[in-house]
Amino acid sequence: MSQPGSTSGTGLRRAPVPRLPQVHQIVLPTPWDVGPVQVYLVEDEPLTLIDTGVRTPESRAALEAAFDALGHGLDEVERVVLTHYHADHLGQAQTLRDAGARLEVWCHADDAFLCENFSAERDENVEGTATLFRDFGVPEELIERQTRMRRQWIREDPLCDPTRVDRRLRAGDLVESKRLAFQVIHAPGHTPGHLLLSEETTGTLVSGDHIMGNAVPFTENCYVEGAPDPADPLARRPRFQGLPHYLASLRGLRGGSFRTILPAHGGVIEHASRAIDDALLFYEVRIQRIQRALRKLDAGRPVSAWQLWERLFPKADPVTQMRTRMLMVIGALDWLEAEGAVETTRRDDGVLVHRAL
Ligand SMILES: [Zn+2]
Repeated sequence: MSQPGSTSGTGLRRAPVPRLPQVHQIVLPTPWDVGPVQVYLVEDEPLTLIDTGVRTPESRAALEAAFDALGHGLDEVERVVLTHYHADHLGQAQTLRDAGARLEVWCHADDAFLCENFSAERDENVEGTATLFRDFGVPEELIERQTRMRRQWIREDPLCDPTRVDRRLRAGDLVESKRLAFQVIHAPGHTPGHLLLSEETTGTLVSGDHIMGNAVPFTENCYVEGAPDPADPLARRPRFQGLPHYLASLRGLRGGSFRTILPAHGGVIEHASRAIDDALLFYEVRIQRIQRALRKLDAGRPVSAWQLWERLFPKADPVTQMRTRMLMVIGALDWLEAEGAVETTRRDDGVLVHRAL
């Protein structure tokens, strides 16, 4: 898992930003297709770990080896800051506590509930996703197969333990240590409470999954508690609309003075503004494609998100490759509707359908 510039075998890359000698990148294995996850040790007072990796023996051994190379023990960690609640970030926070570390866990207020109550069931959001896909026209038989498959996964080890959150962060808060101060930027989209950490004097941004070196994140799209918006004629249940949030938070980063991005996946990003533009472009191109497909398909007649999915991804496997693509189609429709480019109505069977304006 080591990279160029790392000390051999430990997955440790010392001071990837030379102007920030206290911050080290540690590459930890995951059993997933996403590949390894990168966490960051801020070697200062308090000793701070940003994200923690999944809870597996391999990941723990890799973390231990990197700490060892720096002359620390896992029980010395005094603070964990989480970019978001997903298992490859939250996974070992409780492991560190169990190893004897008297540490505080900090994360954004909007992800705190899921950090404290993490379960595979909640993370996979099986029921919520089934309802969402039903509302957007996915055939019942396919929803049932998806649900069965995800329930099967849930029975497997989620590689993550929940843990107590000691501080709920908000935009503008500072994560300070003796010689450094990171400012919290709230960047919802991938999760509702995803946060970024900005170190202004060196133009460094710790980006979690918001901006990655090797991929663009999916955006969450889940129903949330609360009454429908009284202004919505369709009385839709309130939903966290990840894609519009994601694009807005990316646009907010444009024109910032970032030079280097330290992501959770995909190395170190040296051309920060290009990476931000690339992530925006990725989704902008897909939104345009979805808008074009809608125009072609509807000919004035409203169509469901599922019909769009079938048109856009004729070669994709509807069982294994449907979920993230469907979340993208729904996200794009959210964005287009907010822009006034799409009108959404409800079919007699309750399914939401859409028409290009
Ligand atoms: Zn994630």
